[in-house]
Amino acid sequence: MGTGTLSIDHTAIAANWRALSALCSGATGAVVKANAYGLGAGEVARTLAGAGARWFFVAVAEEGAAVRAALGPGPRICVFSGHMEGDAAALRAHDLTPMLNSVDQMLRHVEALPGHAFGIQLDTGMNRLGMEPAEWAALRDIALDQNPVLVMSHLACADDPGHPMNAYQLQVFRDLTDGLGVPRSLAATGGMLLGEAYHFDLCRPGIGLYGGAPFSEARPVVRLDLPVIQMRDVEPGEVVGYANAWIAQGRSRIATVSAGYADGLIRAMGPRARVFAGATACAVVGRVSMDLITVDVSHLADVPDVLTILGRDQGVDDLAEAAGTIGYEILTSLGSRYARVHRV
Ligand SMILES: *Cc1c(COP(=O)(O)O)cnc(C)c1O
Repeated sequence: MGTGTLSIDHTAIAANWRALSALCSGATGAVVKANAYGLGAGEVARTLAGAGARWFFVAVAEEGAAVRAALGPGPRICVFSGHMEGDAAALRAHDLTPMLNSVDQMLRHVEALPGHAFGIQLDTGMNRLGMEPAEWAALRDIALDQNPVLVMSHLACADDPGHPMNAYQLQVFRDLTDGLGVPRSLAATGGMLLGEAYHFDLCRPGIGLYGGAPFSEARPVVRLDLPVIQMRDVEPGEVVGYANAWIAQGRSRIATVSAGYADGLIRAMGPRARVFAGATACAVVGRVSMDLITVDVSHLADVPDVLTILGRDQGVDDLAEAAGTIGYEILTSLGSRYARVHRV
């Protein structure tokens, strides 16, 4: 029966896209990189195209090929890493639009694929990807002659609305792009929530579509049920799991469930994590193992066949907090051993 069942609620994904797109007057795309944050790029992209998304974003060309295979011709699929060495054949074959990040990428692109659509990514202060202001100043007129379909940049601190970096990057982006007559994009999920000034012509939400912070009104998208493999009673003083990390204080019932850190249940979440029997919380006890976790179910009258680790009572951000990480990492770590069930 595998290590667990990951249910993906496509009605919720579509509803989250609609709710986010209602915030802005321009277009709303969808970021489906990293296999749509672990949920299945092809299935998710089809749902979002059905909801009305026409712009899709991936990290690298190979991901774009998978999204194109799912969507067919029509929607634009943009590649954040731009045009890297060896990408030309894939960009052409799958009609992908690279977001060019440097003069070198620009030269590579116009040489290998003259006339092939592209966008420009500008660095407005994050110092991660994109052309720096001086580089853009030197290249701008040549680039504009080639008709870029988009100029974009990315915010470093958008999940913190009060951070001065937001207004700073907005100003830099305006200075670099005002009056160009090319469609512009600055905001991901966090930036969309900062207000209209950040929206420009196109927004690029990712995490908000999948139910994660900072889009607090998001509908939860994932549910993860883990089968109980075995039950046992332990006496006071008996230990559970590696390193004897948990010692029973009283007579206890322990359920061993199928899934562990090899499935993305991050080992560091250890004793702060909980699983749920219906709405009743049960503590994870002892160490998270590679394929198994152990749970104290002493207080349950009946132990169900499955215990829920992601769902209504504990979302991706709750589990992330227990593990000392962010919802993005919980989602993109969800393992390949789960049976993925796509619910529409
Ligand atoms: C990942 C990413 C996004 C989406 O960000 P979310 O915070 O998930 O909404 C948008 N733009 C770029 C450049 C990204 O790398």
